[in-house]
Amino acid sequence: MLDFHVHLARLPEAALVCRELQRRHIQSVLVACEPWEWDACAPLFQEFPQTLIPCIGIHPMIAEQVSNESWEQLKTWLQKFPQAYVGECGLDKRYPGYAPNEAQEKLLTFQAKLALEFNRPLMIHAVGDHRRILKILEDLGFPGSNAFPIFHRFGGDKEVVKRALRMHALFSIHPDSFRKASTKASLSAIPQESLRLETDADESFPIQNPDGTQKTPDEIAQALIQSLQTVEESLKSL
Ligand SMILES: [Zn+2]
Repeated sequence: MLDFHVHLARLPEAALVCRELQRRHIQSVLVACEPWEWDACAPLFQEFPQTLIPCIGIHPMIAEQVSNESWEQLKTWLQKFPQAYVGECGLDKRYPGYAPNEAQEKLLTFQAKLALEFNRPLMIHAVGDHRRILKILEDLGFPGSNAFPIFHRFGGDKEVVKRALRMHALFSIHPDSFRKASTKASLSAIPQESLRLETDADESFPIQNPDGTQKTPDEIAQALIQSLQTVEESLKSL
């Protein structure tokens, strides 16, 4: 089983959770999308190379806060981890710098170009305008042989699926992907081999037991697996 988008460094006792996942043969695309998270994930990438696929980038939520120095550091991290995907990056209408030509778009374009330059998959976060993101990627010349977009926590519609598939996109499906009718209706248009499952677990992932105690790393790993199984079953019952 593979969790295609997860922020394990935002969970308590991340290294122990990784060990529990490894013990159960669960692989994860571990996303580090803020400078502090790069530092927190690097030792995990090194300790669990068999089960973790690194994904390193800058999230649109901090587009207006990050310095140019961080943009340069991102390049260095991607060189240090040659198998790392780029991202997550994208557009999110809930955060500053969302309008065309503002900070979010510049940061997305920078990372999309890095993905093409390094020939790596590009993890996309889209809340708002999928079509603007598609246009940016199309204009930049996606796909490369290994540079293709991954639409994480997919929330697009049939037209997005159609255009994204032309760029050899993958679609990472989260429990939220079944919420909007237009997204739910688009899922059956995605070929099986282009579908992935994800938890997107981060600091908001429930880590309390019903009795109020904190879940152990073992229990967190089980909850992550259960979340993936729920998505798998929802896809089957479409
Ligand atoms: Zn994420």
